[in-house]
Amino acid sequence: MPQSAEKILDHAPLFKEPEYQEMFARKRAMDGMPCAEETAKVAEWTKSWEYREKNLAREALTINPVKACQPLGAVFAAAGFERTLSFVHGSQGCVAYYRSHLSRHFKEPSSVVSSSMTEDAAVFGGLQNMIDGLANAYKLYSPKMIAVSTTCMAEVIGDDLQAFISTARQKGSVPEDFDVPYAHTPAFVGSHVVGYDNMMKGILENFWKGKTATPGEKINIIPGFDGFAVGNNRELKRILDMMGVDYTLLSDVSDTFDTPSDGEFRMYDGGTTLEDTAAAVNAKATLSLQEYCTQKTLEYAESFGQASASLHYPMGVAATDELLMKLSELSGKPIPDALEKERGRLIDAMADSQSWLHGKSYAIFGDPDFVYGMAKFIMETGGEPRHCLATAGTKAWAEQMQELFASSPYGANCQVWAGKDLWHLRSIIATEPVDFLIGSSYGKYLEKDCNTPLIRLSFPIFDRHHHHRFPTWGYQGGLRVLVAILDKIFDKLDSDTGETGADISFDLTR
Ligand code: SF4
Repeated sequence: MPQSAEKILDHAPLFKEPEYQEMFARKRAMDGMPCAEETAKVAEWTKSWEYREKNLAREALTINPVKACQPLGAVFAAAGFERTLSFVHGSQGCVAYYRSHLSRHFKEPSSVVSSSMTEDAAVFGGLQNMIDGLANAYKLYSPKMIAVSTTCMAEVIGDDLQAFISTARQKGSVPEDFDVPYAHTPAFVGSHVVGYDNMMKGILENFWKGKTATPGEKINIIPGFDGFAVGNNRELKRILDMMGVDYTLLSDVSDTFDTPSDGEFRMYDGGTTLEDTAAAVNAKATLSLQEYCTQKTLEYAESFGQASASLHYPMGVAATDELLMKLSELSGKPIPDALEKERGRLIDAMADSQSWLHGKSYAIFGDPDFVYGMAKFIMETGGEPRHCLATAGTKAWAEQMQELFASSPYGANCQVWAGKDLWHLRSIIATEPVDFLIGSSYGKYLEKDCNTPLIRLSFPIFDRHHHHRFPTWGYQGGLRVLVAILDKIFDKLDSDTGETGADISFDLTR
């Protein structure tokens, strides 16, 4: 045997041992799989223009979409409020998926409960599951608020959350005055981006409905669904404090998904207080940092007489300028010199590395606002975001992307791909190659298959650790993004010069 108790091999070297290689070969033969040459021939054909046309004409099937389902976004939004437990009305398996997705990315426990609907609830309705589930969640986990969303199953059978929650209250599952906001989050339409919006609106409705606003000086800020929220929300608060802006961050997950190891398990940590959430109705404005995560929520805030504005993931120089100027306009506070200096440092760093950044081409995939913000920053570096893909992207988003391309000479050869998936992207970069891919860990298969290095800058990142602890927003965040891009450029350069035998260019100084 290749390994023993004295010599334990990790799976990568273990499966290269002859015993395993023979076993794999036997299995291929037994399953009637085509030989390796035939598989390689077909794999090559699927990288042709002929296959690309068939692939892009595909309508009835999605393969590896760059999006998750609505409840994941709802769970993320709810996690940013003080002692709030997400309760998903539906099946356990779905909720295990949200928990594991968040835990694998943030490397933190993620507490979410489900109403554990099974076959009987699917036939007769899930009212009893809601009654029992809310009672158990309230007693076992001592939350201050329970935020209810739904999975496909509950939506398909048409369970009515408002009626169910009110019946559960009458039956004593939770006290009469206990906060149970809810949002219907049908997973078969929209995406986690829409689910975030629905839950955010649901939570605000819970506190604001029927209130008359008395506009004050505070500004509400909604960060949106963001895999870098731990670093980004802290960076955002540092900037707001530097400017002296009076604000309420609505849904702040920075402590929820970054608890310390000090001997105490914190099921809840940080988050926007319920008191501040209720008082946020009196804000003079609500600013969203991600338009597509907050379309319904902003409309709702406007119905209370608040001014509103939205950005697209404030990454890079111009997008951070826009954020600061908007904050200054809404709050009347000037932008401090210290932030102007940070701006100058980012520009200095970009200028220092200009010769390496200029003319590089990229394929970017992710959520609509992330892709927009990333493409904007890439063009600032002198790069070309040739292919910009968002499965959750709409027609309106595609038009905004076209306007962005038109604003810079680096956008001239760029294309937007709204509603497409990663299998589409494989065809696209196989036929029109780019230098680098930017997106989530799911791009690693494309990286290998199409020999295009992947820069991990969006959600989810499962196979690298702790990136989310560092910001990508603001000028400081821009520096971190710049370094991530440059590191990959230099790694590729070193690898190319080393492998091709052109060692004369394998330089110590770049
Ligand atoms: S798509 Fe539907 S079934 Fe799948 S995880 Fe989401 S809610 Fe559950």
